[in-house]
Amino acid sequence: MAYSSVNPSNGERIKQFEPLNDQQLEDKLATAQRCYLTWKQKTYTERALIIGTAAELMASRVDEFARLATLEMGKRINEARGEVQFSADILGYYAKNAERFLAPKELNPQIGDAHMESSPIGVIFGVEPWNFPYYQLARVAGPHLMAGNVLVIKHAGCVPQCAIAFEQLLTDAGAPPGLYTNLLISHEQSNRVVADARIKGVALTGSVAAGRSIAALAGQNLKPSSMELGGSDAFIVLEDADLEHAVKWAVWGRMYNAGQTCCAAKRFIVVEQLADAFLSKFKAALAALKAGDPMDEKTTLGPLSTESALLQLLEQVDRAVAGGAQVIMGGKRIDRPGSFMAPTILTDVKPDNPAFRDEFFGPVAMFFRVKDEDAAIALANDSDFGLGGSVFTQDILRGRRVASRVETGMMFINNISWSDAELPFGGIKDSGYGRELGSMGIQAFVNKKLVRYAALEAPV
Ligand code: NAP
Repeated sequence: MAYSSVNPSNGERIKQFEPLNDQQLEDKLATAQRCYLTWKQKTYTERALIIGTAAELMASRVDEFARLATLEMGKRINEARGEVQFSADILGYYAKNAERFLAPKELNPQIGDAHMESSPIGVIFGVEPWNFPYYQLARVAGPHLMAGNVLVIKHAGCVPQCAIAFEQLLTDAGAPPGLYTNLLISHEQSNRVVADARIKGVALTGSVAAGRSIAALAGQNLKPSSMELGGSDAFIVLEDADLEHAVKWAVWGRMYNAGQTCCAAKRFIVVEQLADAFLSKFKAALAALKAGDPMDEKTTLGPLSTESALLQLLEQVDRAVAGGAQVIMGGKRIDRPGSFMAPTILTDVKPDNPAFRDEFFGPVAMFFRVKDEDAAIALANDSDFGLGGSVFTQDILRGRRVASRVETGMMFINNISWSDAELPFGGIKDSGYGRELGSMGIQAFVNKKLVRYAALEAPV
């Protein structure tokens, strides 16, 4: 069954959903296309009325949305509430700022006048992951709907109720039929949606494998696309770092969302002088986390999203060990119902170990000790990914220099406070292309049209 709600903290199956048949899919695409023809004519103020209302409604129903995410993918309830509030903030941010971001821009040609204007392009297809079941949707809905496009979305198979709740939110806010459509569809149907002539752009957030497949199809069909893919972010600790501060961020950076965050800290690269002290404090802090019901606010370690995600992670750890890595803590599932993984630290992961280039999507940290700053940067850059990263030092100028030399789309100095509606989010290399959020996030699927006006005589 492609779309099923299973509570990962106890394995209980909650609900199943039938995927759309081809006729239902066709009807939804046709409705979306019809909606586009009127939505594109609306003023920013008219669009903002609906998106702004969605933001307010979401903020007023934080608990309801949060409980659903916790139920379906195991996010700890406090984190789920934070995600819902942030998703509402993103919708509100674009309702408020879209017109300014897309305002015509005057140019200065040698003769006459010209400007660039931004217009919507049509129905955009989004493919989204389960790890932030609302935030990922808000990141596309806020900007692209405010730009005058309409959205059809394929959400991940394990969060159908979150997907339906978000669609209902837009409806409750007054969205016309077809403005935002949740599609419960198979990968095969999704391929056909990418190729469908009514679809004018494709936004995917997910794994590298999904990105390769959907980006290739989008390319074949000459559709613009944005790809927000995986990461294996470096967490660099220099010898002048504030150790206590760095360890707190290390724990949060690896363990937030049970470690299932694209830009989580995944490779801990610590300069020799601090390496032993960092490792022992990091280990102690991870060991203090207590597995429990993610609905309980006191729980500090939640389950992974699904049983299959847990099995995949355990297999990856086994492969890393077969390739020469040492497990210095964890490495196993926790002996209790639900898909709980013990916080794990791997050392001795050498470049010839396949794990060296892997993304561990869960509470597994790779620890590396290096001799100095240059070695830390070289190791950070020796990755197929290039999403984010962080550096800890008490010398901010040094932090900025290191940040500039690390090859990623985002760098954080003395924090890994990844997201803010205002800050562009995205990566390079296998982490994908394009940026979501901020003023850049609204530019992905608009026609940047040049208009020149000058009383020029045609050349003879
Ligand atoms: P995933 O397996 O790639 O799934 C993501 C979405 O893509 C789901 O809706 C999935 O649908 C769909 N999908 C997968 N293969 C597809 C295909 N061949 N054709 C059409 N749709 C396809 O990734 P995930 O395991 O859910 O999410 C974790 C990954 O996402 C990690 O690598 C993480 O780093 C990355 N991520 C990146 C960002 C970012 O902003 N850069 C943010 C969050 C997550 P089904 O569920 O039906 O398979």
